[in-house]
Amino acid sequence: MHTFYYADHERHNPAQFSQYASTGGRYSYLELPERVKIIRDAVRAAQLGPIISPGDFGIEPIGEIHDYGMLNLLQSGYRLLRETTLNPPYVPDTFSVRTYSKHVPRSVLGLLGYYAFDTYAPILEHTWSVAYWSAQTAISAAALVLAGSDRIAYALCRPPGHHASVSLFGGYCYLNNAAIAANWLVQQGQRVAIVDIDYHHGNGTQSIFYNRSDVLFCSLHADPFNEYPYYWGYADEYGEGAGQNHNFNFPLPRGTQEAQYLRTLEQALTKVRLFVPDVVMVSLGLDVVEGDPDGGFRLVTSSLAAIGAMLRELDLPVVVVQEGGYRLDVLGESAVAFFQGLLGR
Ligand SMILES: [Zn+2]
Repeated sequence: MHTFYYADHERHNPAQFSQYASTGGRYSYLELPERVKIIRDAVRAAQLGPIISPGDFGIEPIGEIHDYGMLNLLQSGYRLLRETTLNPPYVPDTFSVRTYSKHVPRSVLGLLGYYAFDTYAPILEHTWSVAYWSAQTAISAAALVLAGSDRIAYALCRPPGHHASVSLFGGYCYLNNAAIAANWLVQQGQRVAIVDIDYHHGNGTQSIFYNRSDVLFCSLHADPFNEYPYYWGYADEYGEGAGQNHNFNFPLPRGTQEAQYLRTLEQALTKVRLFVPDVVMVSLGLDVVEGDPDGGFRLVTSSLAAIGAMLRELDLPVVVVQEGGYRLDVLGESAVAFFQGLLGR
């Protein structure tokens, strides 16, 4: 397999601010640069294949998914906010409740609350460029698989993306890397099934494709009745319009262990088989592992290998996009186990 990795992701690091200090508290910022460095080192040590830098596919594939107003804010927000009396990290103090407000303000502070849906995605000096390259990392992996250069490509993205929708960012996510890459593949004539196995529901990805029949979205995640992102991810969300029956959520209780997880994954993979995709895209969240500070399932390293092996049985090209995973001491072995299962080793 080929792994894509953008080395300068470290320039985006919200945990450098005391408000987000990674102390393990309620508001600590767990999305650390070390996460993907640990995974990269483990992939290298396990000799899973070459690790290469992403190519630049430009802003267009990002603009195909995201609202340009939001992209403008992510791109210029830091500079504009520096001109106010506020200090970084920049998070909103007021949120737009769009059911009631259809007006987009001009004030940069107003825009911040219009496009952010929580306080977990502060805009820092290098946020835009790092998010941009995270999206390019996902597209590069998709392009490699499309070209037939390999059957498996891994986009070791940071920041993650699956909570970001067309015009909302949050949950450590700014641009929806998986959705951007999936849509790019659709434009090349591919049918894409996305299987999101992060602990949290991929609300952004769901919303982006909710009215579309050319991308299937299946997600296994913690029941949003109790867990972030709370408002999306319920089992009765099947898609709308042309997207009807192209969205399937499999909420699972806190404490879920391997046997129940794998049984549920089989149900999701049945939906994938019925869709008959050309490419499978996996939103890989390693926060499903027991002891993850942002998780609550009880999967272990060998569970990840079993998940990888089940995805291998689809016998399709696979693009894996990194999402969450915050337990630093097991991130490397978890990722390697998943890929060894996927590679049939
Ligand atoms: Zn997650």
